[in-house]
Amino acid sequence: MPDNFFLKRFVVGPMGVNCYLVADYSTKDACVIDPGGAPDVIKDLLKKNGYNLKYIINTHGHGDHIAANGSFDAPIYIHKLDGEFLTDPDRNLSRIFLFSITSPEASKFLEDAQTLKLGNLEMKIFHTPGHTPGSVSVKLDGVVFTGDALFRGSIGRTDFVYGDEKALMRSIREKLLTLDDSTIVYPGHGEPSTIGEERKNNPFLV
Ligand SMILES: [Zn+2]
Ligand SMILES: [Zn+2]
Repeated sequence: MPDNFFLKRFVVGPMGVNCYLVADYSTKDACVIDPGGAPDVIKDLLKKNGYNLKYIINTHGHGDHIAANGSFDAPIYIHKLDGEFLTDPDRNLSRIFLFSITSPEASKFLEDAQTLKLGNLEMKIFHTPGHTPGSVSVKLDGVVFTGDALFRGSIGRTDFVYGDEKALMRSIREKLLTLDDSTIVYPGHGEPSTIGEERKNNPFLV
């Protein structure tokens, strides 16, 4: 766990999505990454800590990662190439997997290499397409949130419509694996890892 900002992982929804609450201790500005469910639990924690939710980031537009977007009163940030996933249950796969999920529309589109302020924190956006065209990873100090691009010991599926295996491998090699080995990986599903651990042991990358 990082000690210079607040970070809490929630495992939410039927697909077991990792939803992350990040906050700046000093300004109490907070952001939720991939609110896929359990909005009341997240809201309770925000309230208990006196955090102000400034925005939501969706690492990509799949239904399991966006399901609770509309339960918060906060702007939604997503990459433009996944923007239409928010309002289209066929595109976001919720219609075939669960039941139709839609979200309010995006308030702002994320771009590669963009920096987002969260209080005194700076979050850097990496466009890491492949699992979906508009997948992003988010780096904050020694931590990177990788969505469904990179998991502990695995990588994202690319067999869905809009998936692109070559693009995913390029994203992982050219964006994620350039980070320091010590960088902690917080993926969209499953347990955390580090870049070094994945570089060495991920069977899809060695
Ligand atoms: Zn996904
Ligand atoms: Zn997912």
